[in-house]
Amino acid sequence: MKIRKGDNVLVIKGRDRGRQGRVVQSFPKSNQVQVEGVNVVKRHAKATSTVRQAGIIEKEMPLSIAKVVLICPICNKPTKVRGKSIADGSNARLCSKCEEIIE
Ligand SMILES: [Zn+2]
Repeated sequence: MKIRKGDNVLVIKGRDRGRQGRVVQSFPKSNQVQVEGVNVVKRHAKATSTVRQAGIIEKEMPLSIAKVVLICPICNKPTKVRGKSIADGSNARLCSKCEEIIE
């Protein structure tokens, strides 16, 4: 996964195109991420034994990582992430705009 929890991303496709947010959860198996304030759906819930509060619940749904791009924390631009293996064998992420390693 090139996008991780805690990253700031820009939505480039779909209903929330142009919106920015922080990744609150990533789902590597399905290549999806859940982004703060993005892809919010409203659910009408009835009070049950597990849900005490009846009414409309707003919930963020995961969206495909193909619909988001990372915002580089160094140059603050939406960027494609390049992978780069570093000396210790792990994989670093590289900003394609400013060539800096992202955390
Ligand atoms: Zn950058």
